[in-house]
Amino acid sequence: MAGPQKKKRYHKGDTHLRKKWKTKRRTKDLDQIDEDLKEKNASKLLHQEIDDDKPGLGQHYCLHCARYFISVDALKGHFRTKVHKRRLKALEIEPYTVEESERAGGLGTYIHPKKRKMETQPVDDGTFDPDKEDVDMK
Ligand SMILES: [Zn+2]
Repeated sequence: MAGPQKKKRYHKGDTHLRKKWKTKRRTKDLDQIDEDLKEKNASKLLHQEIDDDKPGLGQHYCLHCARYFISVDALKGHFRTKVHKRRLKALEIEPYTVEESERAGGLGTYIHPKKRKMETQPVDDGTFDPDKEDVDMK
């Protein structure tokens, strides 16, 4: 019965757990993305120099998901997916800050994190209208 088997820490089907732990496909954390969404950083990320190592030469980037896409079409397609919309929802709540933890710890009054409106970044060619393209989010 005994053997050199590795103790399983998760079930084979628990991909959502595995993805959280594995670092291979790790992208930015929400607070880092929040930093990217500030105007100065956003324009820098949306207009990157051509980079051969990145998918699509680094020219098609989704700010909210911190992902590169190979073409404008792939990027637009991504805007319509659940992953992206879920991410927009997650980013609506302001990231956790030191000030917030101090307020929660009794320094000053606790203010709930603000909700804000998150919108898909504009796409350069001007034909993309997220409101019109919004088909299937229930
Ligand atoms: Zn996205």
